[in-house]
Amino acid sequence: MSAARPSLDSVTTINDDGSRHFLHPADTRGRWTTARRIVATVLIAVFVLLPWIQIGGYPAVFLDIAERRFHLFGWTIASQEMWLLFFLLTGVGFSLFFVTALLGRVWCGWACPQTVFLEFGFRALERLIDGDAPARRRLDAAPWDTAKTTKRIVKHALFVLFAAVIAHLFLAYFVSLPQLYAMVSSAPTKHWGLFLFMMATTGLLYGNFAWFREQLCIVICPYGRLQSALVDDHSLVVGYDAIRGEPRRQGRDGAPSPSASAPAGDCIDCLRCVHVCPTGIDIRQGLQMECVACTACIDACDDVMIRLKKPRGLIRYDSLTNFAGGRTRWIRPRTVIYAVLMLLGAAVLLTVLGKVKPVAFATMRMPGGSYFVDSDAVRNQLLVRLTNKTTAPRRLTLSLVGAPAGIQSTGTDAPIEVAPMEEGLHTVIVRMPRAAYTGKFRFKIAVRDEAGGYTLEREAEFLGPDPKLLDENYWREKSTR
Ligand code: SF4
Ligand code: SF4
Repeated sequence: MSAARPSLDSVTTINDDGSRHFLHPADTRGRWTTARRIVATVLIAVFVLLPWIQIGGYPAVFLDIAERRFHLFGWTIASQEMWLLFFLLTGVGFSLFFVTALLGRVWCGWACPQTVFLEFGFRALERLIDGDAPARRRLDAAPWDTAKTTKRIVKHALFVLFAAVIAHLFLAYFVSLPQLYAMVSSAPTKHWGLFLFMMATTGLLYGNFAWFREQLCIVICPYGRLQSALVDDHSLVVGYDAIRGEPRRQGRDGAPSPSASAPAGDCIDCLRCVHVCPTGIDIRQGLQMECVACTACIDACDDVMIRLKKPRGLIRYDSLTNFAGGRTRWIRPRTVIYAVLMLLGAAVLLTVLGKVKPVAFATMRMPGGSYFVDSDAVRNQLLVRLTNKTTAPRRLTLSLVGAPAGIQSTGTDAPIEVAPMEEGLHTVIVRMPRAAYTGKFRFKIAVRDEAGGYTLEREAEFLGPDPKLLDENYWREKSTR
């Protein structure tokens, strides 16, 4: 049982002297706990399996930092297209805003890795070794005898092991599984950087899940801090039905008792909802920033109501408006604005994706001279950089577009094959017979991708001397002057 009733003026997990009050939330059973356990199992399975599932020759999600490419479910984002991630991330951000405005902190309670791994991984292990919440509190207070020391060593060894497994699985998203296996099975001296990264990540995860726990949600998480701006009285939240529950039937720990004249409400002030809360709050005091919508208090209170033969739902998912006797409005300015921004982001992303071609190319002048004057022609040498952004080889053909009559080129005849995810530099020499040269001019270099059925074009400029300098009469006259 918690030392004191939670107060809105202080944080339950911090004692008056500033030290940490370590919580041992009681276990819950019920439909919401079961549903969350199923969701957590699916999410952990997805996290573990994604690096193993191959799509198009790459893991389903592979953030290949070394090659500066991301592979997302068969879609490869080359380094030149990283800007697309801006639309992806803002789209995800607006989707989260939209979902939060409708359903409150459903992300925190159901899908956030912090909640999923803490509640259904580390806390489950702790329960297995140390027992239920009262047993854990007794163990905390017990002297350091052999039994306590053994339990602590076993628990923290398993915590470190579990943290290391999560850290390695996380790394698999960035280095691929074969590489990860090669690293794990070789000496740390061969890859010091990654070894230290793994040690640091494991240490951070261990520290977070073994000790810091709910403090991450209360003190650090920026999404938690945004809640007051994202939700309103019509958002679904985990809340207490004060109209039905008050006045409490039986005062405990100094809580007010109902007067003889007022009929008792359904809340019996048993504090079950407080004891199961992983952030140590009393939801009956109203919506608070510390509430991560884990639904533990719903199951705890439903259990009490069933025993009392009362309807469930004294604590439930509902809007503050409904709790106050009004009606939830789903369509309101913030949900409309978030939905529009979300759809706008999706539309822009799809439009931009439709315009992105599997091949990119750029032209530049070959170092050594802007142009060359041969005995019979003016010559420009260009370098064409061809980039294949796909996972299959591509055959590309170069040609000149809009060049004046008489121009000749080499390097534009045969198709060029560019290997998957590779770049190739190709030389194009453009020659203009001296007799036909009348000064610099602009033209285009085109790349035809037969498989893709499209042509890309880039502007280029043919450079040369002042045409009169190529005229022999000019030099003859100049020498006779
Ligand atoms: S669990 Fe239900 S009955 Fe018990 S204190 Fe909480 S709200 Fe009241
Ligand atoms: S108040 Fe209820 S839903 Fe919110 S964190 Fe505590 S137990 Fe979870």
